[in-house]
Amino acid sequence: MTLLSVQAAQERILSRFKPVETETLPLGQCAGRVLAAGVVSIDLPLFDNSSVDGFAVIAADIAGSTSASPRTLSVVADIPAGSAPGVSISHGQAARIMTGAPLPKGADAVVMVEDTDFDYQAPNTAVPDRVEIHKPVRTGGNVRARGADLKSGQEVLSAGHRLRAQDAGMLAMLDIANVSVFRRPHAALLSSGDELTPVDQPLEPGKIRDTNSYTLAALIEDSGCEALRLGIAPDRRDAIQSLFDESIRMKADVIVSSAGVSVGAFDFVKDVVESNGELDFWKVNMRPGKPVAFGEYRGVPFIGLPGNPVSAFVGFEVFVRPALGRLAGLKTAARPKIQVRLAEPVESDGRESYLRAIVEERDGILSAKLTGHQGSGNLLSLVQANALLIVPAGVKSLATGSPVDVWWL
Ligand code: AMP
Ligand code: MG
Repeated sequence: MTLLSVQAAQERILSRFKPVETETLPLGQCAGRVLAAGVVSIDLPLFDNSSVDGFAVIAADIAGSTSASPRTLSVVADIPAGSAPGVSISHGQAARIMTGAPLPKGADAVVMVEDTDFDYQAPNTAVPDRVEIHKPVRTGGNVRARGADLKSGQEVLSAGHRLRAQDAGMLAMLDIANVSVFRRPHAALLSSGDELTPVDQPLEPGKIRDTNSYTLAALIEDSGCEALRLGIAPDRRDAIQSLFDESIRMKADVIVSSAGVSVGAFDFVKDVVESNGELDFWKVNMRPGKPVAFGEYRGVPFIGLPGNPVSAFVGFEVFVRPALGRLAGLKTAARPKIQVRLAEPVESDGRESYLRAIVEERDGILSAKLTGHQGSGNLLSLVQANALLIVPAGVKSLATGSPVDVWWL
């Protein structure tokens, strides 16, 4: 089998994924969900309202007023927030009004309470009969006009957008109680290896902790999917197959495994996939993470990541995140990529390399340094990193100051 380029492998994987079905959910359950349809606005604010506590007036009535020579208006109404004023204001009149309350008919501005003789320090003060105005206000002053933030018919959020906190608030503002979103896809996750022990069980001699289950489950959730954690398969054909079959029973949309896809004597994962489906490829020209396998098991797409913890993480970012993003209906799944400068020289072996780096601002320039030794089992290098630095295929060394792309972690 040939060694594929990263890009070719990504394309082959992506071509096998499409978005899952949609569902309609109450807004309160939509945090982190992906919109299945664009959202169109209504006029916001919905009505002209006051942006301060004060007095609604006709601006022309109080032109030239000062504290030495105030204009006096008669107060004909009191308009708390949430009320719908039936009154209208004529010349010489004002209405007390609270922040957010609708502007009464006839009024065209609001004077802040601080610019009047009204004692606003004491709560519950009854509405006065008259008010002295100490400062003029322009027409429209302190009024939030209908439609000033948004006009009806504008697209506010588009399909494929993952809802953040502020988006949820916006949907409520737009009267959207039920939202059309993509179903949360299910990604079955399994680790393989006789040496692996879950973190909550005693560690026997020669065994190590199953690290990848925890990292990969968190990455799957972060990608907008639900992780179906199937645990650890020992290095036996039947044990591996039984967890794969469990994924099928649980109706997984994709199966993600780590380890057992290399050329070791006990690497049965590829075999199991080949005899129950199809193996598309199992090696990619990259570092770390050359043994990445892709195929399908009984009709469900399968991505096999390498076993070493850093390789599994990098393989996830390069291949699994985009695939899960497409399943989840996301318009863009990739982490933000930016260009920075190297703060030290970097060597590579000519494979496309993903190195762990700290990016910091130095003298106004974003500069990248590697986080210690880059062994694929050295998870600390990833814990200390805030970026993955990408050295393209075919490049063997980069000098200090060279521009490089990084993904923010
Ligand atoms: P393998 O791909 O099975 O040859 O595994 C490569 C290396 O990754 C070995 O040192 C394994 O012990 C290690 N490894 C495999 N799976 C895990 C895991 N889930 N957590 C931590 N290390 C692992
Ligand atoms: Mg193994």
